[in-house]
Amino acid sequence: MNVQADTIAQMTSTSFDPNRIIKDFPILRRKVHGKRLVYLDNAATSQKPQSVINTVSRHYQQTNANIHRGIHTLSVESTNAYEAARGNVQRFINASRPEEIIFVRGATEAINLVAQTYGRSTLKKGDEILISTMEHHSNIVPWQILCEQTGAILRVAPINDAGELMFSEYEQMLSQRTKIVAITHISNALGTINPIRKITEAAHKHGAIVLVDGAQAAPHMPIDVQDISCDFYAITGHKMFGPVGIGALYGRHEMLNQMPPYQGGGEMILSVTFEKTTYNHVPHKFEAGTPNIVGAIGFGSAIDYLNAIGMENIAAYEQELLAYATAALQEIDQVQLIGTAQDKAAILSFTVGDIHPHDVGTVLDQEGVAVRTGNHCAQPAVERFGHSATVRASLALYNTKEDIDALTSAIRKTIELLG
Ligand SMILES: *Cc1c(COP(=O)(O)O)cnc(C)c1O
Repeated sequence: MNVQADTIAQMTSTSFDPNRIIKDFPILRRKVHGKRLVYLDNAATSQKPQSVINTVSRHYQQTNANIHRGIHTLSVESTNAYEAARGNVQRFINASRPEEIIFVRGATEAINLVAQTYGRSTLKKGDEILISTMEHHSNIVPWQILCEQTGAILRVAPINDAGELMFSEYEQMLSQRTKIVAITHISNALGTINPIRKITEAAHKHGAIVLVDGAQAAPHMPIDVQDISCDFYAITGHKMFGPVGIGALYGRHEMLNQMPPYQGGGEMILSVTFEKTTYNHVPHKFEAGTPNIVGAIGFGSAIDYLNAIGMENIAAYEQELLAYATAALQEIDQVQLIGTAQDKAAILSFTVGDIHPHDVGTVLDQEGVAVRTGNHCAQPAVERFGHSATVRASLALYNTKEDIDALTSAIRKTIELLG
């Protein structure tokens, strides 16, 4: 892939220097309301390194053409770059072959694809789909639609006061009726890291297939779909420092092979007559129409960037930041953390006394601190804790202890103004 050699050369797999990483992200140099931008909204979307921006613009400047079937040079180069990106995604999550990676618009489309192909073709009335209280709306609504279409029943495994899945309750809800378990790897609202391998193993014992929503995990920790041994894994490029509008669905090859297509159109067919159409092979069967070519190539470049730093290093650094941020927030009496799982990613949801989260967010923005407020597309998870909204600071590899200090001093200012 086209990664800037200098970016990669500056990094070694053993050193992690956030101040060098910040320099790779041009947007972090801008100011907001005259203040240094402190970007703590990474669970909503991440910023892009220069190497990804360069890859995307270089592709449009030098290589742009439609892919597959093309005879001319640009088409061949574009096709090769697109398929190389597929290989990048494959290796990044340790899928066993590139055909197991389907490019989609994002995690949302990945989950809808599974619901509307695998789900719709196999589920019957009375079958059960098991999710958890902490799911993102993208891992709730597609299953509700599928239930309406098939007469299947949606069941919800509970979480405890720390925001952890109640594992024995989950296990007890599994039965012969359970056909699909769809669960998040990391909760975007609470930060909880689920014991996804154990969850998958228990589901498989009952003959259910498992889809893991990995939208929040893939940017922050090493992923190994073979080790997890899930059937499907959904990721989204824009939260992984790649372009918006591109994501990937991993599916076990034998599952994908037997699934009906998702959408019909070009690319997904081998032959079309008005009597009979033959579908293309996996993964092309699921990629109807001209795909987001440059999005995929940019996604591949983002993965190169992450690989150069090392996911283990990123995970370790973010755990250090999480510990620092948790301690700093706990020092402020009015701050109440929502989501205190033992095993937690660097996502901090909280309330500040009785101040409305939107008001907190507004004052923080005046200080240059970007956080998200609301239900974070996980309304049931937030309501489980008796709130309709929280403030959420979600960290990434380019955040620093200075960013956390800026957050806490902006919160103290909010309390002075509105508390
Ligand atoms: C963001 C997110 C999604 C949806 O991703 P899109 O890129 O919007 O499709 C799904 N699940 C979780 C946990 C997320 O954080």
